[in-house]
Amino acid sequence: MKRVLLLATTTGYQIRSFGEAAEKAGVRLVFASDRCDRLDDPWWDQAIPVRFHDEPGSIDAVVRACGATTPDGIVAVGDRPVVLAAQLARAFGLPGHPPAAAAATRNKLLTRRALHAAGLPTPWFTAVPIDGDIRALARRLPYPAVVKPLALSGSRGVMRIDGEAACLAAFDRLRALLRSVDVRVERDEAHDQALVESFIPGAEYAVEGVLHHGALRVLAIFDKPDPLDGPFFEETIYLTPSAAPADTQRRIVAAVDAAARALGLHHGPVHAECRVDGAAVHVLEIAARPIGGLCSRALRFQRDRGFVSLEELLLRHATGEDVSGCVRETAASGVMMIPIPRRGIYRRVEGVEAARAVSGVEEVQITAKPDVRLVPLPEAKSYLGFIFARGGEPASVERALRAAHARLQFVIDRDVAVVS
Ligand code: ADP
Repeated sequence: MKRVLLLATTTGYQIRSFGEAAEKAGVRLVFASDRCDRLDDPWWDQAIPVRFHDEPGSIDAVVRACGATTPDGIVAVGDRPVVLAAQLARAFGLPGHPPAAAAATRNKLLTRRALHAAGLPTPWFTAVPIDGDIRALARRLPYPAVVKPLALSGSRGVMRIDGEAACLAAFDRLRALLRSVDVRVERDEAHDQALVESFIPGAEYAVEGVLHHGALRVLAIFDKPDPLDGPFFEETIYLTPSAAPADTQRRIVAAVDAAARALGLHHGPVHAECRVDGAAVHVLEIAARPIGGLCSRALRFQRDRGFVSLEELLLRHATGEDVSGCVRETAASGVMMIPIPRRGIYRRVEGVEAARAVSGVEEVQITAKPDVRLVPLPEAKSYLGFIFARGGEPASVERALRAAHARLQFVIDRDVAVVS
């Protein structure tokens, strides 16, 4: 039985999807995580404990734990494990992304520099120490601009700024976020800086793909129909196939391909986000991992006479199987990541059955746990849940997602801070 080493920071749904995919594909998963104390899933008997901030120590731990049985492939789930995955691929002599390329995808400043150096469309950008005095900079910035952390994800800490006062306020907010305990535990020095770049107008798209020894294979292009003009950038709806004109889609694919080359990515899953501003396609980022959270459920691929999930496709690819015969189903499909509407204590949700009853809706999955404190963007790092729909056309899928969302009522109590 082939073995795939799965590196992950989470123990949640996405990992479960890989567990199910491994059973279907007849692959044995070897799991390495920094959350071994929290493993509550039955798929792994002996997870290897690693620490993503200690790469040499983690490489040693995994190589020692694997002993003579080298894995047949490696898959990283989530942002933090991609660099370690690349280093382990090199250590085991497996195809993967070069470690420097994986590291560059994890850092928005390095990404910008690589794309700029390759002559690809890039906004004006500069990096500044988060503790520095930014008053002089705030006076001369080309507004509108965007301020963001170098190494967070899911739009956390990303803020549009339209003038000097907004810039100073956004920096205060970003500084507080980067100094918060849950960011500092990552021990990433990228969190000592912020990136400021000019705001790129235009429609936004996401591309899911897999690189095969340097050749990009696009698995799906997603439209993001909600305008993303700020001040914060909530991802909500992803729809595929894209309704963009064929020429725009070709330019998007060419831009992602060029960005992957500029970064030096080589083999394995990629997920890119880009903005189309007239003739220029700006790749905002390209991650060396698959789409996050539960969103992969919006994708399904035909293989032989059945369907395979994105996770199964990626596990098969990781073991060296030719997956070029797996093509996305013909149905339109979409997902809504249900945003957190306001700060407070989440109690419960009403209307789930009514939302599920909307024609085209396949699944409503509420992931927020009762009684947890909800924090909206830009500090947020989670969603309330996910809605999935399928249909003949992307437009009907979008309508179904919005109709289902409108039927959900989230009961969120005011968060009263206790002062003793
Ligand atoms: P993350 O990795 O946290 O998703 P991104 O840099 O991709 O961070 O930014 C998140 C979102 O913020 C993007 O999807 C986009 O909507 C918006 N955004 C980021 N940078 C810019 C920019 N320069 N111009 C316009 N929108 C931007």
